[in-house]
Amino acid sequence: MSLTAATNKQVLEKYLDLEQDGRVMAEYLWIDGTGEGIRSKCRTLQSVPKDPSECPIWNFDGSSTYQAEGSNSDMYLYPCAIFKDPFRRGNNRLVLCDVYKYNKKPADTNQRFSCKQVMDKAKDEKPWFGIEQEYTILDCDGHPFGWPKNGFPGPQGPYYCGVGANRVYGRDIVEAHYKACLYAGVDICGCNAEVMPAQWEFQVGPSEGINMGDHLWVARYILHRVAEDFGVIVTLDPKPMEGDWNGAGAHTNYSTKTMREKDGIKAIEDAIERLSHHHVRHIKAYDPREGKDNERRLTGLHETSSIHDFSAGIANRGASIRIPRQVAEDGYGYLEDRRPSSNCDPYAVTEVIVRTTLLNE
Ligand code: ADP
Ligand code: MN
Ligand code: MN
Ligand code: MN
Ligand code: MN
Repeated sequence: MSLTAATNKQVLEKYLDLEQDGRVMAEYLWIDGTGEGIRSKCRTLQSVPKDPSECPIWNFDGSSTYQAEGSNSDMYLYPCAIFKDPFRRGNNRLVLCDVYKYNKKPADTNQRFSCKQVMDKAKDEKPWFGIEQEYTILDCDGHPFGWPKNGFPGPQGPYYCGVGANRVYGRDIVEAHYKACLYAGVDICGCNAEVMPAQWEFQVGPSEGINMGDHLWVARYILHRVAEDFGVIVTLDPKPMEGDWNGAGAHTNYSTKTMREKDGIKAIEDAIERLSHHHVRHIKAYDPREGKDNERRLTGLHETSSIHDFSAGIANRGASIRIPRQVAEDGYGYLEDRRPSSNCDPYAVTEVIVRTTLLNE
């Protein structure tokens, strides 16, 4: 695919600050029937919404998003979180929604609904999450951005947290995304260049309960939009390049109130013990294909654990669960679950972690 629809990106600038007479452009976002894709469409609101309840419920054609049959295609969008719109600026807003079927039951890929119920049950323990979202920038031909067109860059080693035109590809995209997330109100907390060239990471968190999924999905939406502006593509595939190249994950850092307090290490160890009994259930929740995607990534090589085994260790990046060195020294803090795939649904991941470790299900 070549970029045949490219326009001069400067031209839009002269329209962006036109008066809107108090009216607001609200871009409604939702997860489509693949459980990975994000869709959005826009409507006018007469004033700035302060709360999702002030945004009308809307609908869309589910037969065009892999979500419904053509004969019964109307699906509902229920607004659930509002962010500032970094693309249109001003009073314009991004409105994250979850999706319901004609009968008002959650859509098949609406993982937020049950996640929210679980987070409500666990709210006294104030579960915090921090997700490290790894991703790869591709050229429009599907080849990693900046890689030689007929070959490969030099082996991995110099690229992680690298500096220099021969080490990192696409930093301006990463910078634009970070700024746009801060502006929008996303809980973004860092970013770095990754081990494979053209691969990057940003972190969101610590975010409490349902906010983790909400903020990560909006951060992903913003990333795809920024990439669109730059004429490149972002993939969340967990193993975009076969061979001796690192895959991409979504390490999920997790703590409860008890874990964060003095001697919290005991609660961290208890949680790891519980997780050890539910490895398969977690692997199924950690990518959109119940483990099939992660099979390509969790090989036991490239800083991963084997998909078939559960393991845990202090500062061990080859384990399923890592206790950060500092946490072991302090005696309290958080744990890192390294298994979730880069294309995971954070609602599914955070839900199953809380079910296993807090609700004891
Ligand atoms: P790594 O060393 O694995 O690369 P990062 O610095 O990329 O770690 O990411 C650390 C993540 O841990 C961040 O998303 C941060 O928000 C999260 N985090 C920090 N403290 C906590 C905590 N107490 N509970 C949950 N998540 C936390
Ligand atoms: Mn129409
Ligand atoms: Mn990291
Ligand atoms: Mn990483
Ligand atoms: Mn990590």
